Amino acid sequence: MRIAKVVVDVAASPMDSALDYEIPNHLLDIVQPGVRVIVPLGPRKVMGFVVDLSNHSEFDRLKPIQEVMDYTPILTEELLNLSSWLRKETLCFRISALQAMLPAVFKASYDKEVWIMDELDSLPKPLQEVAEGREVFPFSDLSDSHITDSQVKQYIKEQLIDIKYVVKGKNRVKTYTAVEKAVDDMHILEELENMSLQAKKQREVLTYMLHQEESVFLKDLTNDLNTTRAPVESLVKKGLLTLVKKEVYRDPFETKNQSPTEPLPLTKLQQKAIEPILDSINETYYQTFLLHGVTGSGKTEVYLQSIQRVLDLGKEAIVLVPEIALTPQMVSRFKARFGSDVAVLHSGLSQGEKYDEWRKIHRKEVRVVVGARSAIFAPFENIGIIIIDEEHEQTYKQEDYPKYHAREVAKKRASEHQCPVVLGSATPTLESYARALKGVYHLLELTERVNEQAMPEVEIVDMRKELLHGNRSMFSDQLTEKINERLDRNEQVVLMLNRRGYSTFVMCRECGETITCDHCDISMTYHQQHHKLKCHYCSDERPMPNICPNCESDAIRFFGTGTQKVEEALNLQFPDARVIRMDVDTTSRKGAHEKLLQKFGNREADVLLGTQMIAKGLDFENVTLVGVIAADSMLHLPDFRASEKSFQLLTQVSGRAGRHELPGEVVIQTYSPEHYSVEYASQYDYESFFNREMQVRRQFQYPPYYYLALINISHENHVEAVQVANEVATIISKHTTGNCQLMGPTPSPMLRIKDRYRYQCMLKYKRREDVNGALEEVLKHFQKQINQNQLQLTVDFEPYHFM
Ligand code: ADP
Ligand code: ZN
Ligand code: ZN
Repeated sequence: MRIAKVVVDVAASPMDSALDYEIPNHLLDIVQPGVRVIVPLGPRKVMGFVVDLSNHSEFDRLKPIQEVMDYTPILTEELLNLSSWLRKETLCFRISALQAMLPAVFKASYDKEVWIMDELDSLPKPLQEVAEGREVFPFSDLSDSHITDSQVKQYIKEQLIDIKYVVKGKNRVKTYTAVEKAVDDMHILEELENMSLQAKKQREVLTYMLHQEESVFLKDLTNDLNTTRAPVESLVKKGLLTLVKKEVYRDPFETKNQSPTEPLPLTKLQQKAIEPILDSINETYYQTFLLHGVTGSGKTEVYLQSIQRVLDLGKEAIVLVPEIALTPQMVSRFKARFGSDVAVLHSGLSQGEKYDEWRKIHRKEVRVVVGARSAIFAPFENIGIIIIDEEHEQTYKQEDYPKYHAREVAKKRASEHQCPVVLGSATPTLESYARALKGVYHLLELTERVNEQAMPEVEIVDMRKELLHGNRSMFSDQLTEKINERLDRNEQVVLMLNRRGYSTFVMCRECGETITCDHCDISMTYHQQHHKLKCHYCSDERPMPNICPNCESDAIRFFGTGTQKVEEALNLQFPDARVIRMDVDTTSRKGAHEKLLQKFGNREADVLLGTQMIAKGLDFENVTLVGVIAADSMLHLPDFRASEKSFQLLTQVSGRAGRHELPGEVVIQTYSPEHYSVEYASQYDYESFFNREMQVRRQFQYPPYYYLALINISHENHVEAVQVANEVATIISKHTTGNCQLMGPTPSPMLRIKDRYRYQCMLKYKRREDVNGALEEVLKHFQKQINQNQLQLTVDFEPYHFM
């Protein structure tokens, strides 16, 4: 085939379809789908992905491919196809879809280098000065010099220099020189006998190599023998040894002789849950399972044994876990079972480390990958299972382009590979549970903890009453008493405060009234700028009241407390307590998160105070009390998922107490004790919560009854922003079909960010076909303005952020 279809690294609509390029003769063997190439585009040279080969083109005069960057494809055929599916699914550029599947080192990161093609001494003076004796140097050295563009052009023409593109990542592979025997042992023995006694060092090296089964690093050899590389090189010249480049992986989770774990005999419930999964693995058919199991019910053991079956069949497994759960504690559960068969991908790794882990997968050196969201694109070719733990976590939705949800990608890949997807959670999303009840997913339930330990007792404290009898502190009498008990008994306490929603909603501290929109049943948002309350779903607004509309008290405030304030209060009220505070401020440095947890695990503190980041995955046997400072800070967010998120978080944080011998207790402080999220969470009653919340969703036509698409518009010019928003709404109304509803345009809750004015439209729909044409039309209509960077316009399917 003579023609390559190339998706170039230019995010612009007309460039989005693949462009045709001629494959020059000398590259015919190398160019194949999945490799990157350098191609001319107008006056520029750009990177592109070869996505297909062909013998025909509609155009007659094609430009040739300039250079090939990869000698083996970095994307499989399945992933290439997946990129066009992803493009349609999220309405992103194909190039963004392709790049999302690769580690960041590949992301258009190529450098220009100047290669000297002639004898250095015979170069023109100015060029010699820049080269400074180097045969290869960065192009920037040339462009920073006094040498003009036309001179550079002339040098290239005279073949004095060449300009090459190199992937930045290319040099990130760490290689070392290793020594190998070039001949067999008999030959070496013979040589040793004949070698002059003066060649003492060479004899030493040969004797040393005689004992090596494989190659050894040159550095190790010279260290061991206390010698230089000279004797080695002499032996290489004699043809007895060879020097080779060996790759060394950086292993951030160096398996330090971890004792391997054996599969545990499954409980009856686990056995019942795993059977349908094993069936799908054995019979190779695609099915999505929802594994609904309370915390501590042994979901992970079900994952591990399903993976074992997949490996026994010679296939591969992808496991997604939330970023925050990718602590060494969690990773070691997989490494302990599957050893060096496991690659780990998370955002704490350096770019080089991520690249190393990716290469292990690419070269089929591992068969299990455990990672955060983007691990869903692991370049395996024989997938036998995809597991998504804590499936309700928002982290599985990517907020940048392409705005994909890992769950949807998992389902797509699993259907290609004909294998199961397992979604696991103690608190599944309403969407997933509703699908399971309808039979779209296969529902598997683990209703009890493995050790049959009761879930910790939950006490709800009504903070309005505390205020009434004069307690103005952040801690209720009950919580204070229980904290003191723990301090006396040397047990530990986890205190959670959710900082999200800080100061955005308004509440009466006397009666607990919050102000919600009349049309949407969603908390109104306080807009500081105009001192007004607004609903950003329907743009209704009203002035900020001075007295509570319910009880006429003047104790109406916008609500929120920071972790720092709570820490101060703790120090004041419990001067003997040692407190560890964990929030964005104390955990921003790499590894800080782990260090703080380790300190707490070593009992170097009595209280762990933190934001929602402490709700997940922690397992400390000495924790017997969990306190939630203000459950309300999540309940009234301007988000239709506020109740669901609260329920999930309260359930999760409750699961941190009494996980082992000592029984646990939970205290939830709230101004809304009667809210069903709080009530059902305190009873661990997922089903009642689900039923109740489904009624709300049906009434207000939210997911899972309708799908949502959020169109965000922002512009530096306020008037323009409003005009575009109106125009968007007009186009959408004109082009949608079927059962759709358009809400807005309405100003975003944060109207101005970074000097840009922000508006949004929300589209509710039943079938994607009914809105696709309209949304593509919108993107096409504003493409020029978007490319010129004045206008930002994004479409977000299944949105999670409304601010
Ligand atoms: P989950 O993932 O549902 O929260 P885990 O998998 O963490 O639950 O299991 C909780 C605890 O029970 C872990 O310490 C685990 O080792 C243990 N466990 C799981 N399955 C079994 C089993 N079949 N027999 C004994 N212990 C088990
Ligand atoms: Zn409203
Ligand atoms: Zn009131």
